Order: sequence, then C-alpha cells, then structure tokens
Amino acid sequence: MPVNKITTIKTNKSEIFIGEQVLGLLAEYLRPYQASKIFVLVDENTLEHCMPTLLLEVSALHQAEIIEIDSGEENKTLEICYQLWKTLAAYHADRNALLINLGGGVITDMGGFVASTYKRGIDFINIPTTLLAQADASVGGKTGVDLDGIKNSVGVFKEPKGIFIYTNFLQTLNKKEVLSGFAEVLKHSLIKDANHWKKLSSISLSEVHHWEAFIIDAIRIKNEIVLNDPFEQGERKLLNFGHTIGHAIESYSLLHDETPLKHGEAIAIGMLCESYISKRKNGLTASALKEITTLITSIYDAYIIDDSTYHELIELMKNDKKNEGAEINFTLLSKIGKADYNKSVDVDLVLESLNYYNALNSD
Ligand code: NAD
Repeated sequence: MPVNKITTIKTNKSEIFIGEQVLGLLAEYLRPYQASKIFVLVDENTLEHCMPTLLLEVSALHQAEIIEIDSGEENKTLEICYQLWKTLAAYHADRNALLINLGGGVITDMGGFVASTYKRGIDFINIPTTLLAQADASVGGKTGVDLDGIKNSVGVFKEPKGIFIYTNFLQTLNKKEVLSGFAEVLKHSLIKDANHWKKLSSISLSEVHHWEAFIIDAIRIKNEIVLNDPFEQGERKLLNFGHTIGHAIESYSLLHDETPLKHGEAIAIGMLCESYISKRKNGLTASALKEITTLITSIYDAYIIDDSTYHELIELMKNDKKNEGAEINFTLLSKIGKADYNKSVDVDLVLESLNYYNALNSD
C-alpha cells in the first residue's frame, strides 16, 4: 500500500524524509535557504528520468546549475572529483553554495565527498534514486570514492543537510538495479531482524510496486545501528556482513569483467560465502544456511569465480580498510537476525567458502 504521509527518520546529524509528497517538502525546505548558488549533480540516467520531475516540483531549482557526469562505478574516482571541484570553482561556488546529489549510490557517495571537501565543506542534500541508495546508502554519512579499483578507499564521514526519498523514482530502475538494492535490504534483515527476513522471503519481487514500507524498515534497522556507533568502532561493523568477500569480488569484477557485477550482486555472493563461514565458525545452523542459500540463489544469477582468481581475491580482502593488521576480519551470523563482528577467519576457510559458492552453481 502506498503511504501518503511523509515519514521522518532522525539520523545522527540529519533527517531522512520519505513519501509521495517529499519533493514538495524539499521545495519548502529550500525556500528560506540562503544558498549563494545551487548545483545539482546527476548522471545521464537521473538527468533523463528524475530531473524533469524534480524541476516540476521544486521551482527553486530552475536557476540551479546542473552538473552531469557519466554513470557507473568506474567513474567513482578522484579524477572525476577533480573535475567536479574544478567545475564548482569555475562557477565561483563559495562556502554558501549547496550541492544536491540526485542519483544512485555513486552520485550520493561521490557528490557527498566533493561537497565535504570543497572549500573545507559546503552543504549538500541527497535525493537517492536507486533502491540501494534509498534503502542503504542514504543512512550513515559515508562519502567517498574508489582508489585504483579498491572500493571506497578515500572518503570522509559527513551527513547531508537532509535526505529526501521519493520512491516513485524507482519506477524507471531496471531489474538488475532493483536486485542490487534488494541485496542490502536482505542484509539488514539478516544481521538484525528475523521478522523482516521472513517478510522479505515471502514477497515476489516482480509484484512489489510500492517499496516505501520495505525501505523504511531497512533504513530504521541501519539507522539504529549507526546511531549507536557512527564511526564504525564497534556495532556498525555488523553492516559489513557479506562485504568482506563481496567487496573483493566487486573490485575484481570491476577490474576484469566486461560487464562488471553491480554492488548488490557482489554482496549477494559475499553473503552466501559468509553465511557458509558463519555455519563453520559462528554457530549458524545448517538449516539457516540452507534457508539463506535457497532464497539468495533463487533471486541472483550465478557468477563464475574461477579458482585461478582466488589469490587475487584474498589480496583484495587483505587490502580492505576494515582489516586491522594482517588478519581478515568478518561479520558473521550466529542465527538469522543476529550477527557478531570482529571475527577473524583463516584464509583456508575463506577459500572453502568460495568453493561452497562455486559448488552451488555446478549443482
Ligand atoms: P549507481 O549510482 O551506479 O546507480 C545504478 C544505475 O542506475 C546507474 O546507471 C544510474 O545512472 C541508474 N539510475 C539511478 N537512478 C535511476 C532511476 N531512478 N531510474 C533509472 N536509472 C537510474 O549505483 P547504486 O547501486 O545506486 O549504488 C552503488 C554505490 O553505492 C557503490 O559505489 C557503493 O559502494 C555505494 N554504497 C554506499 C553506501 C553508503 O553507506 N554510503 C552503502 C552502500 C553502497
């Protein structure tokens, strides 16, 4: 059912607004705003699919400068940041300029980083337009870019002034992108909320037309964790479930595949491998592993991880910024809806989990 009111979720230093009327709320929010100049960062897809609606609803943006970059994770780089900083400077953007990031996680992560560093920080607002960006990247203030293919190596924690989620933007998202976002929604339930997992297990993705309730649940789970630990000293590491192996596979795919895996597709593989490790090392029962495996493999296409790539994957995992020293750190499930962080795992068991994943695909 569509929800006609606006839901507000307070984050550490900001607020997330979700609802059908949220763009009207943004128009009101901007009216008294004393920005010297407003910029809207888009890629070609959000320029085509989201910008017209935004302009229709928020007349203050008719005077805004639109900055367009090419879509794709391969553009989440310092080189593109350099171009963006130069563009802001060319428009004489000063400390009172405002950057509105209209896009998926690439735009909100990179736009947030550019805004946070330009002239030591200008205000920014995020309007996430993918399921992944709405349900996950919208919360927590992580901004940043990849460095030589290593995910999110350079960045800062900085929350936007506000986050405005208009779920109708998801209507133009292709299935692959919906699935990518859904992986993070599943992850939130696996680490913290067994009831939410049950709910998600019973829906047919092709029949979901109204994402609002699922997105609100996912945000609430993540927000509760981030509020307790904004800078990832402890509990926030729970959110890394699926990401130690998932990020390595994503980085590998970005470097080598013609059509790289989407973030969430890689995280889905990571969650399968890390659920296997959870069974071997953290008390996850065989039936829970089976339940997780059955659901995830029913949603996501198989990906071949050739064993000749294992060495490179392990090196990528060791490079992960979440590690301390030489050990590879994991967040592991103890049951569906409960996880533990800072679990160091032997390389041999990591390799075994990759074999587990590969064996699923040969069945
Ligand atoms: P993305 O930004 O690349 O968007 C995916 C694709 O969808 C792009 O081609 C984009 O142009 C297109 N698109 C966006 N909105 C659309 C719309 N409404 N209609 C049609 N097409 C649209 O990728 P993503 O999956 O949104 O985000 C992935 C990124 O998010 C990764 O870089 C990941 O590291 C990051 N991330 C950040 C956090 C965080 O906490 N900051 C959390 C999870 C992921």
